[in-house]
Amino acid sequence: MIVVMKLTATGSEIEKVEQRLQQMGFKSHLIQGVERIVIGAVGEKKVAFPTGLEMLPGVEKVVPVMAPYKLVSREAREENSLIPVGDLLLGGKQLVVSAGPCAVESEDQLITIARQVQAAGAHILRGGAFKPRTSPYSFQGLEKEGLTMLARAREETGLKVVTEVLTPQDVELVAMYSDILQVGARNMQNFPLLKELGRVGKPVLLKRGLAATVEEWLMAAEYILAEGNYAVILCERGIRTFETATRSTLDISAIPLAKLWSHLPVIVDPCHSSGSWRLALPLSLAAVAAGADGLMIEVHHKPAEALCDGPQSLTPANFRQLMDSVARIAPAVGRYLAAPAGEHQEQEAVE
Ligand code: PEP
Ligand code: MN
Repeated sequence: MIVVMKLTATGSEIEKVEQRLQQMGFKSHLIQGVERIVIGAVGEKKVAFPTGLEMLPGVEKVVPVMAPYKLVSREAREENSLIPVGDLLLGGKQLVVSAGPCAVESEDQLITIARQVQAAGAHILRGGAFKPRTSPYSFQGLEKEGLTMLARAREETGLKVVTEVLTPQDVELVAMYSDILQVGARNMQNFPLLKELGRVGKPVLLKRGLAATVEEWLMAAEYILAEGNYAVILCERGIRTFETATRSTLDISAIPLAKLWSHLPVIVDPCHSSGSWRLALPLSLAAVAAGADGLMIEVHHKPAEALCDGPQSLTPANFRQLMDSVARIAPAVGRYLAAPAGEHQEQEAVE
């Protein structure tokens, strides 16, 4: 349930409600919107209405949350969550693009690609140091060495860094080197990992599982919020269907649906969903038109030599073309590309 406080509610009135919720066996989460202050109460307990909380000073109303994901739901927070990543803001009018190789392969490879995607207007550098490969015999990533290369590329270019973390034990290490921690599709329901990420002070990019429903995806996000980390970015990356012509099927409807059911930003990865660099541009345009808040694109300067996912990696020239096309489509849906990394931009007000 959520307890909606009056606009005039004082700090001590809010505190009293939170204390009462704890006595009733709930964990309370303060959700500070622009229009209203809400206290989310989560826990296993069923509650009978009226709850008695209605009588407390400063309380406007108490409303049950019907969705199984409580803190993630639009019922808990009407406005979009705006997630700051340094000077970037995800979930507002700006479109934020992360780009880079599937895997960090060497310092030379990473810096070369980072410079080129930065020049094309990307904001965040992506690149896996810990790779969740289908085969145990495939390249597994450079691990810590890869993380230090990502940090060096950030220094060099001003790009933020997003990289995947595979285990709860690695969360602290990955958080030291990255601006956003990525949960891969294969780990979407790794609950110990999600819980650990709920306790880290950095945004989390949560990819949709290969065979996860939108509800299961939002429940996975709930694990992170329930531990106190509200900075979750959802990423639609395609799901498994009967179609074999593409690696996965990009679920375009999941974009407006996830935004309707939750307040979290949604970005789209057209490379892993299609498995083909040729489809990345049209799918990116479709994603932006459908309301995506950003994109994640695989880029490699030598796709034919990439240690993983070469066929779905764009060359820097193709990536530039994609960015130009996105910049032209964005205004049609009231969006614009955030200023390229390194350039100052005003933080926009909440919509
Ligand atoms: C990735 O982004 O590097 C990746 C492994 O993607 P996914 O988890 O979506 O397969
Ligand atoms: Mn990849």
